[in-house]
Amino acid sequence: QTHFLSHSLQAKMSRPVQARRLKGVEKNIWVEFVKLAATYSKVNLGQGFPDFPAPDFLTEALTRALGRENHMLHQYTRAFGHPPLVKVLAQLFEKLLGRELDPMTNVMVTVGAYQALFCCFQALVDEGDEVIIIEPFFDCYESMVKMAGGTPVFVPLRPNPPKDGKLMSSADWQLDPAELASKFSERTKAIVLNSPNNPLGKVFSRGELGLIAELCVKHDVLCISDEVYEWLVYDGKQHIRIASLQGMWDRTVVVGSAGKTFSATGWKVGWAVGPDRLLQHLRTVHQNSVYHCATIAQDAVAQGFQRELMLYGKPESYFVQLPKELQQKRDWLVQSLDGVGMKPIIPEGTYFLVADISQFKSDVPDVPNSDEPYDSRFAKWMVKNKGLAAIPLSTFYSEAHKNNYTNFIRFCFAKEEATLKAASDILQKWKQEKTSS
Ligand code: PMP
Repeated sequence: QTHFLSHSLQAKMSRPVQARRLKGVEKNIWVEFVKLAATYSKVNLGQGFPDFPAPDFLTEALTRALGRENHMLHQYTRAFGHPPLVKVLAQLFEKLLGRELDPMTNVMVTVGAYQALFCCFQALVDEGDEVIIIEPFFDCYESMVKMAGGTPVFVPLRPNPPKDGKLMSSADWQLDPAELASKFSERTKAIVLNSPNNPLGKVFSRGELGLIAELCVKHDVLCISDEVYEWLVYDGKQHIRIASLQGMWDRTVVVGSAGKTFSATGWKVGWAVGPDRLLQHLRTVHQNSVYHCATIAQDAVAQGFQRELMLYGKPESYFVQLPKELQQKRDWLVQSLDGVGMKPIIPEGTYFLVADISQFKSDVPDVPNSDEPYDSRFAKWMVKNKGLAAIPLSTFYSEAHKNNYTNFIRFCFAKEEATLKAASDILQKWKQEKTSS
């Protein structure tokens, strides 16, 4: 009897358990690098989150929401977004996009921008559809397209180093118009745009966005526009919203994040804004999976936006203050990296900065024919041996193109001055050891 039982149990265990859609997306670089940083780093400029506090008005809003005044904030709210939050988001985006919005049909609140992206791909991409992704890209786009049964088609931003010996800027990374056009076909369902771009910090110009828009309209292609860094642009640059260009509103889903907007990434409140013809399908995915995110966090974020709407364009606005502070941090890190010869690419936006590690290569020996790109081995070596965490640029490329960009690492500069100073000290000491050895 026992023998028979164990035999039948064994037989059952031999059946494949993994759904086919998970094939090829099992690995996640964040899980790997977050663990490495937690284990080894003294200074963590890796994953993108601030180490300074969220603004007082936001944490005070959360405290108010927690108070006894409205105990119903501890209960379920509307599936597609807590009413005060969708209302204020609609008001804000009416201003930003220059069109009337219905809070109930044109806005959906999600668990971070991440879930808004997931809803987009699940709702809009079918088996056999192609989705164009501009490299380097936030890595989850590729996995999410694949999980939906689609095929990612990659097109790179190509670097054009300035001739005058000046530092490179993220603006020097550009799409080749003919190459971009060649990626659009009958099978193209959507393009993912991320401006300001993680990891380069590139802020797409009106001309570049116009080109993408023209191709979308010509080929009847949707645009998933990830704008989580919409408020983080520097040097007086302007963030242009592709949904505001001619012919684009009806085919664009705008994705945003309260985590990035209000320096509270752990709250995981995000949104999708777009026409009802697209959002109705995102709602179907959302209602059948997550349903909604914490009411209390949505309420506090709504209060944060109400404040910002009142102060819109004024110097006290967080949307004005935060980029001002971050620009100083960027400039400081640019100088200190340039000083040690880790040449920075000056970002026009986001809180990331990509730097060239060529001059530090001699310390981390190359392993010929390794499957792992050099920058990845470099970043792992750096966190283990120097205690400084950063993210290799190759992780933001497709498998086929990973080995074209292996001399760069990405730093996050949304950090306290002391953190940035500690990072700079590590690099300076390292540089001195190199020159004296
Ligand atoms: N898009 C981009 C480009 C990001 O960098 C991130 C976070 N690193 C997200 C989306 C996810 O945002 P959230 O934390 O709101 O889910």
